[in-house]
Amino acid sequence: MAHPPPRPYVGRFAPSPSGPLHAGSLVAALASYLDARAQRGRWLLRIEDIDEPRTVPGADRLILHQLQSLGLHWDGDPVWQTQRHAAYAQAFERLRRAGRVYPCHCRRRELRAGPYPGTCRPNPPAGHIPVAKDGRRPAWRFRVDPGLERFQDRWLGPQCQDVAAEVGDFIIRRADGLWAYQLAVVVDDGQQGVTDVVRGADLLDSTARQRQLARALALPCPRMLHVPLVLDAQGRKLSKQNHAPALDLSQPLACLRQAWQELGFGHLPADAPDAFLASAAAGWAQRYPGGARTGMSA
Ligand code: GLU
Repeated sequence: MAHPPPRPYVGRFAPSPSGPLHAGSLVAALASYLDARAQRGRWLLRIEDIDEPRTVPGADRLILHQLQSLGLHWDGDPVWQTQRHAAYAQAFERLRRAGRVYPCHCRRRELRAGPYPGTCRPNPPAGHIPVAKDGRRPAWRFRVDPGLERFQDRWLGPQCQDVAAEVGDFIIRRADGLWAYQLAVVVDDGQQGVTDVVRGADLLDSTARQRQLARALALPCPRMLHVPLVLDAQGRKLSKQNHAPALDLSQPLACLRQAWQELGFGHLPADAPDAFLASAAAGWAQRYPGGARTGMSA
């Protein structure tokens, strides 16, 4: 059977505005930027402000400013997830009509760490499901597929996860009414035509779940590349919670050089961000040639 023609490369950077970018998030930003430029693709910017309680006012503007100062120019207009509720509601409705979601009344403290045991999972999937219980609003869980979810990661190689055994049915709409990250990211990547996701390895564990959701919504699964996390002196992931120092934007070239080195590359001669990014894109293209020509993964 003939393969469908490959879709033109579309990448994205999708920061959560819980604070400004730091040396760790810059590594993910740089890698996804370089991959898009190496493939002569588009590079979109999406502000993932769906988790409103964690959003820091003004952090989005700061991130935009940081990226511009570093020469990491995105294509088109940035998208804010808080403006996309209608799209998430529509996807949710589609899953609901297909019997792929159910309301869950378990309280967090009733659940032990580990996979969701399926306490509220109705059996059979269709039929009457009581939505209100004790007047509390439920969370909504996605019924995961049984079996192994396999995919290829362009950095890490073959991956596989048994989502049912390791995660269980997961929440796509929270009891407070907010859309979960997993749903928003899949709907957005699908609707924005994203072919390639390049992001930090802390999100590797979400990939199998996102592939299941994409399939349930009849969306193609993007190719994946997870870059290693930057660790601090204590071996912890560099993060806003660990008070990672802010990027020194008076030295944009030094910031880019450091991120490039974290990606395992050697010294590049360049005296300005634009020149640096052009040779870095060429170096990246040598390591990851022609990703866009291999078509979408199944
Ligand atoms: N918003 C997520 C974060 O900042 C990234 C989501 C993604 O790249 O899929 O951690």
